[in-house]
Amino acid sequence: MFETEDNQRAGVKVSRRRAMAALGGGAVAMTAASAVAAVDNDNDEAGLQFAIVSDTHLGRNDSKTPARQWRQAVEELAAMPVDFVLHLGDIVDRGREEQYPIYKEIRDGLGKPIYEIPGNHDPANLFAKHIRKTGDMSFVHRGIRFVLFGNARSDSHDGFIAGRQLEWIEAECAAAAKAQQQVIICTHVPTHTNRPPDRAWYVKPANGQTGFYEIMRRHESRIAAVFQGHFHNGIRGWDDHAPAHEVIFPSLLYNRDRALEAKKAPGYNLDEFRPGYVLATISGSELLLRYKPLGAEVAAEKRLALPSGAAN
Ligand SMILES: [Zn+2]
Repeated sequence: MFETEDNQRAGVKVSRRRAMAALGGGAVAMTAASAVAAVDNDNDEAGLQFAIVSDTHLGRNDSKTPARQWRQAVEELAAMPVDFVLHLGDIVDRGREEQYPIYKEIRDGLGKPIYEIPGNHDPANLFAKHIRKTGDMSFVHRGIRFVLFGNARSDSHDGFIAGRQLEWIEAECAAAAKAQQQVIICTHVPTHTNRPPDRAWYVKPANGQTGFYEIMRRHESRIAAVFQGHFHNGIRGWDDHAPAHEVIFPSLLYNRDRALEAKKAPGYNLDEFRPGYVLATISGSELLLRYKPLGAEVAAEKRLALPSGAAN
């Protein structure tokens, strides 16, 4: 199902107004009149806003284009009311070590926190040396626990979740339950089974998928969403592990239209494939994802229902 709304015709202001309106009342349903009244408010009450960037692939084909696009994204995001940025992996292309300092020099212009995870193009030793000592980490922001872990290997397009990682994810979910937090899990390689016409790259059952979905079931009132990259297919997702949403995010470098909707592949794939990133807003009961192509207005959006009280 496409959810591009009519913002391409009406301009981004419409979707921003809707976003602000949806946010103004938190978990409380709003009347049309109060929604309009909330439109021009400052974003202080605007719920949790953050951005998701993925697959920057600095140095790909020895081109300067990926670094230029990363710089443009940083400049745009620095000027936006987002609290922080998630980077879902493949920071550089094919482990080009000389690109990490370039990535970081550009990143310095962001002026807000950014949390990266390693992709299959980011060898573990280089990620540890240049980005962060451990690929697995969590942080809590406004009642949501973001659980980030590395599930990619340099020698495979599939994903792998080790037993000790499953134990750690379980412990993170237990801690979230104790603190009454929602959880958003972030990795590089999709967990969800997908076959052609999809990429067919995922965490196979024997490589940790089975254990991961057991955790998802055990904490299904807790885990709001799983965020992943790797596919370069725009915004792709599935809701068959509801209530959790599994969402694949676009590449900042390039995306390909695999005609998944036309070919009736399971799940959804928004009709937007320009290089870009995603602006996310979490209100009490909704996760709003807005696809922001580089240098252009928001062009597509997806609204996903959350258990009430996800953010406070
Ligand atoms: Zn990848």
